[in-house]
Amino acid sequence: MQDLYLMAADGGTIIIVEDDPNIADLASTYLSRAGYRVLPVGDGKRALDIFRSEKPCLVVLDVGLPGDLDGFDICRTLRATSDVPIIILTARSDEIDRIVGLEMGADDYIVKPFSPRELVARVKAILRRSVMVADAPGRTITIGTIVIDVASRRVTVAGDEVQLTAREFDLLVFIALRRGLALSRRQILNGAWSNSWIGDERTVDVHIRQLRKKLGDDLDVHTVWGVGYRLD
Ligand code: CA
Repeated sequence: MQDLYLMAADGGTIIIVEDDPNIADLASTYLSRAGYRVLPVGDGKRALDIFRSEKPCLVVLDVGLPGDLDGFDICRTLRATSDVPIIILTARSDEIDRIVGLEMGADDYIVKPFSPRELVARVKAILRRSVMVADAPGRTITIGTIVIDVASRRVTVAGDEVQLTAREFDLLVFIALRRGLALSRRQILNGAWSNSWIGDERTVDVHIRQLRKKLGDDLDVHTVWGVGYRLD
């Protein structure tokens, strides 16, 4: 795997935290071919060290890791200081893992076994989305005391900055630009997070809950029975 470090890459650096060498190799090969510089890491402690020194554009994170730190611990630790996009890999079909991962701030998840092409597609979609929103005209959206600075991806409530994940931020901008409209979960899934996102609709509920928790009462999101949500 050492040669991967040497490959030329313009797409940015991706850290893959995965203890299964077969999966790490496969994912590394495909992501390298797609133009990314890939750093595979087999355990959590090293992953955190490399994260600090390499400043990657994205992290692919296996949930089940050997040692003291599992994927959830790492996700939580990264989120305490960074909004780097995180894709978690879970071997378990249990929905709980996915929900916990998203609640801890992961942007996306992939259930093993997965196709490496799917992984590349998800990585590209997430990175494209970040660029898209970052390139949007420097507009500011105000909802009560909540101020969203679209260009810099910063959100403040009554002047205090609130840390949102990339996915939460995209969701917030999507519903904020459609105030007063009843939006179905499917519309939100497809619109806020691009068409390549194939998720179940409960993902929307999880993220809405996170937004409510982080932004408080000024985020006047109503549940529209049988449909989805509406921001007033
Ligand atoms: Ca594992």
